[in-house]
Amino acid sequence: MSDCIFCKIINKEIPSEIIYEDDKVIAFKDVNPQSPIHVLVIPKEHIESANDIDDVNSNLISHIFLTIKDLAKELGIDREGYRIVNNCGEFGGQTVSHMHFHILGGRKFSWPPG
Ligand code: AMP
Repeated sequence: MSDCIFCKIINKEIPSEIIYEDDKVIAFKDVNPQSPIHVLVIPKEHIESANDIDDVNSNLISHIFLTIKDLAKELGIDREGYRIVNNCGEFGGQTVSHMHFHILGGRKFSWPPG
């Protein structure tokens, strides 16, 4: 999508701190980190939100979670733990309409999130 900021990151039209990339997904540092480690993992395919996961594209979700697991190890946060967040839609707090998963680590989180 031409006006999607995350598609622009995928297409290298705007700069970002990419830490991992393959043919299906890309991971980069969040520009406004909410924890010492804050990485976004996104599919290269423009999927708007979790509402748009279907039988055809759902294989991307397992690939994203395998990527998250590997990145957590690489980033050294796998043993102490971390939070995976997907915000869906307005009430879910989604501000960028390209499905993404936050990896938040390096500090302790509480529950419920508020
Ligand atoms: P969400 O609120 O779940 O939609 O999360 C969107 C996230 O994208 C926020 O944490 C933003 O800080 C982050 N973000 C927005 N633009 C960029 C960008 N150009 N590079 C990296 N992260 C970004």
